[in-house]
Amino acid sequence: MRKLRTLCGLVALALACLAQTRPVNDAEVEQIHRSMLLIDTHNDITSQKETAYDIGKNKHDGHTNVTALKEGGVGAQFFAVYVDSSYVKDNHSANRTLQMIDTVRHDIVERYPNDFVLATTADDIERIHKQGKIAALMGIEGGHAIEDSLRLLRDYHDLGIRYMTLTHTNTNSWADSSGDAEKAGVEHHNGLTPFGKQVVREMNRLGMMIDISHTADKTFWDALETSKAPIIASHSSCRALCNVPRNMTDEMIAALGKKGGVMQINFNCGFLSEKSAAASKNVEAGMLANLGANPGAISEDTLIEEYRKKVAPATLADVVAHIDHAVKIGGIDAVGIGSDFDGVFCTPTGLEDVSKFPNLTRALIEKGYSAADIRKIYGGNTLRVMRAVEAEARREQSAAASN
Ligand SMILES: [Zn+2]
Repeated sequence: MRKLRTLCGLVALALACLAQTRPVNDAEVEQIHRSMLLIDTHNDITSQKETAYDIGKNKHDGHTNVTALKEGGVGAQFFAVYVDSSYVKDNHSANRTLQMIDTVRHDIVERYPNDFVLATTADDIERIHKQGKIAALMGIEGGHAIEDSLRLLRDYHDLGIRYMTLTHTNTNSWADSSGDAEKAGVEHHNGLTPFGKQVVREMNRLGMMIDISHTADKTFWDALETSKAPIIASHSSCRALCNVPRNMTDEMIAALGKKGGVMQINFNCGFLSEKSAAASKNVEAGMLANLGANPGAISEDTLIEEYRKKVAPATLADVVAHIDHAVKIGGIDAVGIGSDFDGVFCTPTGLEDVSKFPNLTRALIEKGYSAADIRKIYGGNTLRVMRAVEAEARREQSAAASN
């Protein structure tokens, strides 16, 4: 990659050079792709499982099933333990969290023991991958899941949770979200409260990755400063290429990389392409207006269908552009993959579901990335962060024990 760029500079044909792709054949793509340990840090199939979705059955209405995961060469999957903000109202966040954890442990891992093994460490992932199975991991989406209790945070860690996004689209009582900055009536905290910083420190002590996807920018900066271990953005893309609050600014990407962290690129059309983002905003506004006028008259399926018809999909080239930009700003060690499959209505052309990862490998090779670079992006960087987080936990726990 670097060599190619130097060459571009030297011949002063940067644009022509960037557009150039190197020819690759199927055998090379296959060989390189199968040699990878691909770790996807965010998949929302767990939310579909609420409606009795069976991950072992091949269906065409989702992005994820066992066969497709194998076709796509996915080695490790972080399943999102997604806790919608609506659970805050009646104090059901912990209930929901436990149900989602059961979905992964019971409905996925226990039900398909020949395909999945539960993993909680980087070593687990490598061992399970060598066995030819898929490592299943869990990350909580939405810090309100802990119901403001470090005890619950510890319980979730015991059950196998290895990352938590500090917020979802809602600001909770200790961290600001990027999703409601303009919303009237929301009590914001200018980032993390003192208790929010305590949550970060306890996550360090436990060995749980701090995930800043969905948080407000100030929450990111507070978390980065507070955490003794590198942090992640499990499913976020680049704001310089698609200006939405869910994406990371160049300044954030550089600072994250400098502290050894990783941002895992999100495949949601609305985070990859501004055209898709604008279309999706319009469709959403239309949907909300429809619901307001006649709530319940339109089924969710119809709304999703409408969305898919009207939102121009992003492309595989957009995904490569985001990876490339993140590498340029944060360094090759700061970038990973966090697809958000089954958490979004629109996925890029050429990267429609989990089976299509080999297309991304081809596109990255064509762009000039070496197998070693792709290995880092696909999983090496995430494994490195996991090991750093595990080491920090060991250090803190042994220091406490010797006191
Ligand atoms: Zn999300």
